[in-house]
Amino acid sequence: MEKIDVEALFLGPKSENRKFFKETLDFLMDEHIHWRRNFHPEDEPVINLNQQQEKSFEETLDRTSNALLELSSRLKFSSMPWFSPRYLGHMNSDTLMAANLAYMAAILYNPNNCAYEGSPATTALEIEVGKQFAGMMGYDPQKAWGHITADGTIANYEGLWVARNLKSIPLAVKQARPEMVEGIDDWHLLNLPPGRILELVSKVKEAGALEAVREQSVRGMGMEKGRLGKLLVPQSKHYSWTKAVDVLGIGQENVEYVRVKDNYRMDVRHLKECIDRLVAEKTPILGVVAVVGTTEEGAVDEVHEIVRLREKYEKKGVSFYLHVDAAYGGYARTLFLDENNLFMGFNGLRKTLHEHGVVHKEVEWPSQDVYEAFRAMPQADSITIDPHKMGYIPYTAGGIVMKDRRVLDLISYFAAYVFEKSGDNPMLLGSYIMEGSKAGATAAAVWTAHRVLPLNVTGYGRIIGRSVEGAARFYYSLLSTGVLDADGRKFRVVPLTRPDFNIVDFAFNEVGNASLKKMDEVNQKVYDRCSYKSGPVYSDSWITSKTSLSSGDYGDAPRAFVAKLGIPAAEWDRVKSVYVLRCCVLTPYLTRGATYTEYWSNFMNTMRKTLEQVVKVP
Ligand SMILES: *Cc1c(COP(=O)(O)O)cnc(C)c1O
Repeated sequence: MEKIDVEALFLGPKSENRKFFKETLDFLMDEHIHWRRNFHPEDEPVINLNQQQEKSFEETLDRTSNALLELSSRLKFSSMPWFSPRYLGHMNSDTLMAANLAYMAAILYNPNNCAYEGSPATTALEIEVGKQFAGMMGYDPQKAWGHITADGTIANYEGLWVARNLKSIPLAVKQARPEMVEGIDDWHLLNLPPGRILELVSKVKEAGALEAVREQSVRGMGMEKGRLGKLLVPQSKHYSWTKAVDVLGIGQENVEYVRVKDNYRMDVRHLKECIDRLVAEKTPILGVVAVVGTTEEGAVDEVHEIVRLREKYEKKGVSFYLHVDAAYGGYARTLFLDENNLFMGFNGLRKTLHEHGVVHKEVEWPSQDVYEAFRAMPQADSITIDPHKMGYIPYTAGGIVMKDRRVLDLISYFAAYVFEKSGDNPMLLGSYIMEGSKAGATAAAVWTAHRVLPLNVTGYGRIIGRSVEGAARFYYSLLSTGVLDADGRKFRVVPLTRPDFNIVDFAFNEVGNASLKKMDEVNQKVYDRCSYKSGPVYSDSWITSKTSLSSGDYGDAPRAFVAKLGIPAAEWDRVKSVYVLRCCVLTPYLTRGATYTEYWSNFMNTMRKTLEQVVKVP
């Protein structure tokens, strides 16, 4: 297996790779300067030497210098040090040099990927990236459709946009071309599997009735109260789903939240109960959302079980759209793909990860369920993937990929022939996607990163393997700590769950304390001292994020965790919310033995000191 050195991919916590970075940036800048100069060399310079020597000219340059100096001071004073392994907070880490340099190079050309004529170079890159997303997710890149979005939020909107429009098609066909769905009642029209609906769309197109049908669909007529049924999302959903149902006119009352189990994965048995109930009352199911890498716990929903459930229901004439929100976990699928991009068998995978040092031998990852979930992802109709999370790309770069590109007919405002005529490059990407103007620099960044790092275990897998290993080490260290001593006072520390992926949540509680409120206060004060809240970050030894797990969002899932911390069940039933510290371990530097041991011991010292301060201050 080709060996890619993770240490050579990032600028590094101490800017260790600064020489390479600066030289390359300088080179790319020169390239751009030459590009400008070589464009009609016969043209006279517009800004001439005389003018450049004017006092006002220099003063104007000074204004720019001063403004940038002020900006730089602000950035240094209070930005978050994501490059450092001392930062274990949100979904951030150092970003790839390849992506940063590509972005900086491309921004000088300022391409706009809304329309091909504004971005002949970078629209092509985006289309290529879309195909790579498809390959990474196990879709057929020739049949799928993928592109870069501003972020995961927009990608989720787009997934729901497709699901909504698709669901409304069969009834629209009944209005516009009743003979094409003759003999199928409304209930069955509302339960056609997504693939069948797309076949119907193809037939409608052949019959020249696409426009007439679209006029009768949601995009022509708007939403009719509750007509398209319910959207089922797990309690662990990202809040972008709440916004999505608002923006797309679904309405909050048409969302049902599926319970999670105490490992924070969707409870598929409860999903089945919800579906059974809805079917019994003849309410269609607009769609189901599964999450691969929940935002707060990194939990991986059992996509394979959901897929199996859908297959069972389809035999009974019930179907729904399935979207996987893998904004966070999407790139982790690279860990499962061998150097030929084939999904590995379970045993072969573990062996490959260990033998090639992608994940240390001591770390048993993935579990069978997580493996099956990743394997089943291509059964979904669409998938959200964020390059600016596990793709180690700078903001903003989200992404979506859909299994069957025919869905474009449901959302585009241009006939698909504009697309087909120009080969692979749509002339107007903006008419097929939710956004309009968008940075071609983002496409350049993602494309270049994918060029450096194959989307399989030999490339991205190497970085993400380190992240998974770091999280596992951190989790096991917390688990084996049990109780720590802070100036004579004893605190129990308990991790929330064994991570499916790379997020570790945990909380402290003073031994003997049975008040959930008091426990929350301690953890809140730890956060206050280990976050931007404590002032300029140079003074922070360790930086994290936090969240509250409340019964409103999670039902009773946190109850067992709270009990392990010594809080009686009755307290949970009364307070119904718990504050936890949340560490997304994206850093690739928590792996090697000695470094990790030192890291852990520093971390423990910081926690001891922090807890001492916390209990001293009333
Ligand atoms: C981060 C995240 C989102 C939203 O992505 P943004 O890029 O922040 O808009 C959606 N879903 C999940 C599961 C996420 O983790």
